[in-house]
Amino acid sequence: MATETNETREKSLNFLEEIIEESIARGETRVQTRFPPEPNGYLHIGHAKSICINFGLAKKYGGKCNLRFDDTNPVKEDVEYVDSIKRDIHWLGFDWAVERYASDYFDQLYEWAIVLIKKGLAYVDDQTQEQIRETRGTVSEPGKESPWRNRSVEENLDLFERMRAGEFPDGSKVLRAKIDMAHPNMLFRDPIMYRIIHAEHHRTGNKWCIYPMYDYAHGQSDSIERITHSICTLEFDVHRPLYDWFIQALDIYPSHQYEFARLNLTYTMMSKRNLLKLVNEGVVMGWDDPRMPTICALRRKGYTPASVRAFAEMVGVAKRDNVIDLGKLEYCVREDLNRVAERRMAVLNPLKVVITNYPEDKVEMFRCVNNPEDEGAGTREVPFSRELYIERDDFMENPPKKYFRLQPGGEVRLRYSYLIKCEEVVKDAEGNIVELRCTYDPQSGEGSSSDGRRVKGVIHWVSARHAVEAEVRLFDTLFRTEDPNDTSEGQTSWEDNLNPNSMVKIRAWLEPSLREQPVGKTVQFERVGYFCPDTDSTPEHLVFNRTVTLKDSWAKINK
Ligand code: ATP
Ligand code: MG
Repeated sequence: MATETNETREKSLNFLEEIIEESIARGETRVQTRFPPEPNGYLHIGHAKSICINFGLAKKYGGKCNLRFDDTNPVKEDVEYVDSIKRDIHWLGFDWAVERYASDYFDQLYEWAIVLIKKGLAYVDDQTQEQIRETRGTVSEPGKESPWRNRSVEENLDLFERMRAGEFPDGSKVLRAKIDMAHPNMLFRDPIMYRIIHAEHHRTGNKWCIYPMYDYAHGQSDSIERITHSICTLEFDVHRPLYDWFIQALDIYPSHQYEFARLNLTYTMMSKRNLLKLVNEGVVMGWDDPRMPTICALRRKGYTPASVRAFAEMVGVAKRDNVIDLGKLEYCVREDLNRVAERRMAVLNPLKVVITNYPEDKVEMFRCVNNPEDEGAGTREVPFSRELYIERDDFMENPPKKYFRLQPGGEVRLRYSYLIKCEEVVKDAEGNIVELRCTYDPQSGEGSSSDGRRVKGVIHWVSARHAVEAEVRLFDTLFRTEDPNDTSEGQTSWEDNLNPNSMVKIRAWLEPSLREQPVGKTVQFERVGYFCPDTDSTPEHLVFNRTVTLKDSWAKINK
């Protein structure tokens, strides 16, 4: 039995776990990872996956995970983003060993640049960034060496010091590594290490006017933190040799980089730049608009942290790029909410029911189970009176066979309450149904009927007099097309693929207990879906978001 368990365990290891277990087997038992966001936007579901991997691996192997802000570009970055990133990681249920910033290492990086200049491995180039780009060559042709490539060490030291001192304007000089202008990996063709940017940095203020490039900063930051497994997305695999080159040239702690496939989701745009555009152009209500793929949007929409973690686990860690069905994320949130969300009654599209044989002023309280999946969730009382609302869909005047809900002359059970029978359909001048007049069986409360007859249909309801009104926001995907960048029908950009019906606001009637529902705490509206109060909700104007419908198209398709 023991071997079988071991085998099963090994089979389920992902390739990163395999790498770690191999190094542990060699005696390298320390596991130190990091999550390295650039604070230039809010985190999205793709980042959530990276967070689950980095923090998850550290946890699994008794290691640590740092949070490191990759804040090397002062122009695009902001503390607002730093704060939101920290909140989102905590919400997902993770905590970092230490909080660091690439900017903490600016002094060290500067000193290391001097080391490389002294070794003859870096030089100051007076060409513009455009000239540099033009002389890089192509994959099939070597680049051209800069006329400044062979400056003396002394001259380079002097110029680099003066770059730092602020003597030169933006773009007039860069520091480049001196590697090989004919290298087959284009990134090795004398990559830029530093550029001049006279801009205030959100942490270092005006101390610096030269800023390191990603390739020069990232590996060294990993090395300073003694990161054992520097995990990033696949597009960085061509950067790995350069990552190693700087570490070797400086002879510092050898961190290693490993790449996994980034998460792509159907109907979802993940690029921060484009998400920022949606926010700035007012296409959405903000970074946390429930239609956004950001973590704060999922939270506002009513997702649970456990459901996002379960999703990350479900999609696993792949080495090849792929696109995941959005239905899988919805499946995960539905599964979790089914376990943890309390049940309530709410009517989204009301039809009035008058129970003609029920006394005018009488109010009864019916005891309802909060969560059939969780006995500990207890019960609550819901008021019942002569006038109710039921869902318009739960009545049909001329129903097909096997329609078990309410119909003329038919009987249904009101959830947790009486059996009612439809005696009369009241219509307005245009023939629209405006009211149903029904009778109830006084012996039929809480599941029994006077003569033991069985009634198949059970529908939800709210007492008209007690119901609270709310705005309910029904969300659909932000894009109409599975691939937001689809241009197969002549679209000029992703903006043409926006779904005009991605948010529909309706008025709904809720059982009174929902007035007290805390913001962000999701409940199931029985037979309808999962909903939670929005951050816009006030006692005077309740607003609920639909987190997810009850229908589970993905699970059905994949059975
Ligand atoms: P974007 O391209 O959306 O601007 P980014 O990669 O520039 O995102 P960073 O802040 O640099 O954003 O990302 C922090 C970490 O999250 C990186 O290690 C990055 O590889 C990872 N990450 C970003 N997007 C995804 C994704 N879609 N799936 C998995 N990991 C991701
Ligand atoms: Mg990035």
